[in-house]
Amino acid sequence: MADTLSPNTVWVEDPDTGEPLIVERDDEYVRIIREFHQNECQHIETEVRRIELSNGAIQVRDCCTFCGSGVGLAKPQKNKTWVNSLPWADPALVNSYQNRRNAEHNAALLALARKQYAERGRFTEAYTAYLKSDAWKAKRALVLKRCGGVCEGCGTAEATEAHHMTYDHLFNEFCSNCWGFAMIATNASPRKNGRVGASPTKVRTRIMASLKPKTFFDGPSPQR
Ligand SMILES: [Zn+2]
Ligand SMILES: [Zn+2]
Repeated sequence: MADTLSPNTVWVEDPDTGEPLIVERDDEYVRIIREFHQNECQHIETEVRRIELSNGAIQVRDCCTFCGSGVGLAKPQKNKTWVNSLPWADPALVNSYQNRRNAEHNAALLALARKQYAERGRFTEAYTAYLKSDAWKAKRALVLKRCGGVCEGCGTAEATEAHHMTYDHLFNEFCSNCWGFAMIATNASPRKNGRVGASPTKVRTRIMASLKPKTFFDGPSPQR
């Protein structure tokens, strides 16, 4: 499955299954990545070391004593005795720092992916398949019927889409406890105009006030 992912897709391997988990680049993702980069080594303490390049040449640089990375430009080599007196840079230190950083990066993405999958069911194969299913289409049609053609987010725009208000009831949106409130009819791109996403509680209250649960299934669509 990994080879079908676009190069722009952020994903992390699920260590339990070996399958890629796709990470949605939401606000939390942006924050996590920002924090990750802010935690990059600041190279506070450095020491002059000699580095053997892959072509065998020797370079002299300040090297961070914590992460091993070379800092700043290569220094002029005053004389051989001085150069030979310098400690060698430690490639193992660089490797272990990079490995540690990669592991931290992976762990942060894995935690976020698990949270996204668990809380919102996003991007799972099951969810994608569900949106193409007759069951989903039937629920979508019911929600669009319920709203009387008007967006339940703003109360004015034409309703064109059914959206999830919560994924707590994914696959079972019309459960007996909250029938229908898991979904809402909206104008397209509710996130863009901010109307629906801004106040789901308000929207739920409005729907609850305007509907009697039984009438949704048994009676005609409610008057607005
Ligand atoms: Zn450093
Ligand atoms: Zn429910």
